[in-house]
Amino acid sequence: SLFQNIHFYTTVNHLKDLPPATGVEVAFAGRSNAGKSSAINTLTRRSRLAYVSKTPGRTQHINFFQLANGHFLVDLPGYGYAKVPHAIRQHWEQLLSTYLQTRAALYGMVLIMDIRHPLTQLDLQMLEWFSLTQKPIHILLTKSDKLSRTRAMQTLKEVKHFLNEHYPQCSVQLFSSLLVSGVDEATDRLTSWFEA
Ligand code: GDP
Repeated sequence: SLFQNIHFYTTVNHLKDLPPATGVEVAFAGRSNAGKSSAINTLTRRSRLAYVSKTPGRTQHINFFQLANGHFLVDLPGYGYAKVPHAIRQHWEQLLSTYLQTRAALYGMVLIMDIRHPLTQLDLQMLEWFSLTQKPIHILLTKSDKLSRTRAMQTLKEVKHFLNEHYPQCSVQLFSSLLVSGVDEATDRLTSWFEA
């Protein structure tokens, strides 16, 4: 399967340290606490894989994980964490925006949003930045278990409506790491990206 034997590859804190672009890269982004690490662990069926991105000293960095086929899952620092000092935030905003806007090997971005707070100001900023590249974005509305089925479907519909209007290169789905639901749909999408 796609994520079989995925393993930690490297941590990057400066643009000059980015590994040579030897495979397709798919980046995961999202607000801190949105459920990004859980989603990565759920998708890869590795309960502690993205834990590495949460270890002290690495949370503000870009973490690369390599798939068996040589491609990369790229875990970006979570944004919107108020306690990050200004200088550090500026540093990673620069790192993040440069990586997202200039990395040729980057095929697309998976954007994680807590279904209870979709499309926050920072999410919109992220969409705005990244849409300049005209690369695809796939949104996981995660923690979908926190809402009733009806409300989850309603939120999905509203987000879809917004995207159709403003960001037609974006797709969106429900996801829950708790229920392990939405995994097949997300995996199909990522498989098509990695094999494009
Ligand atoms: P990150 O900061 O974006 O990497 O977020 P985490 O993956 O660490 O998740 C933040 C919190 O949300 C943790 O307490 C998780 O247990 C919880 N969480 C993540 N995904 C889900 C989910 O799908 N359902 C529920 N109910 N909780 C979740």
